[in-house]
Amino acid sequence: MSKPASNHSDPKVLISAEKLDERIAELANEIQNDYAGREIVAICVLKGSFIFFSDILRKIDLPTSCEFLGVSSYGDKKVSSGEVKVTLDINEPLENKHVILFEDIVDSGLTLSYLIANLRARRPASLRTCSLLMKPDSMRVDIPVDYVGFKIGPEFVVGYGLDYAGKFRGLPFIGFLEAEH
Ligand code: 5GP
Repeated sequence: MSKPASNHSDPKVLISAEKLDERIAELANEIQNDYAGREIVAICVLKGSFIFFSDILRKIDLPTSCEFLGVSSYGDKKVSSGEVKVTLDINEPLENKHVILFEDIVDSGLTLSYLIANLRARRPASLRTCSLLMKPDSMRVDIPVDYVGFKIGPEFVVGYGLDYAGKFRGLPFIGFLEAEH
């Protein structure tokens, strides 16, 4: 992922709140149809997914239990190493459950790859992944992302749960930061 220069202006809109709402309703509908008649365990990957998770969950009309998984990446912040530290684990057993993992963004895919391996070891009946955003040109591993909201370019994005240096998570849209000249 390429990060913005520290000298930047206010975020510009890349995906508006309206477009987010529309696409999330479509994703929710797809998930609801695919899982009709089943109960799901929805896992929110903290922190970046918390707004996406709460919005999509309210649009999925299925019996659902919610779990929260806290992760933070180790090492060099500019390039994901794939080494992931679990800062908050799920206490409930996932064995024989239908699990959907909700991510904010898949960049190199290394974080998701680690999480898939970690969750598969808990022997769920099924495991699918849903990411609001994906950067297909940055992917370094071949992992399944079953539901994707938007495919975007390599730019560093903020808002709607995503931060830059702890800021911008509360923006209602997905934005990008332009360097100031
Ligand atoms: P990956 O392991 O797929 O390279 O990285 C995934 C994680 O990197 C995401 O969960 C997110 O925390 C962070 N990340 C990747 N791209 C962006 C971006 O454009 N903006 C923000 N705020 N975080 C990003």
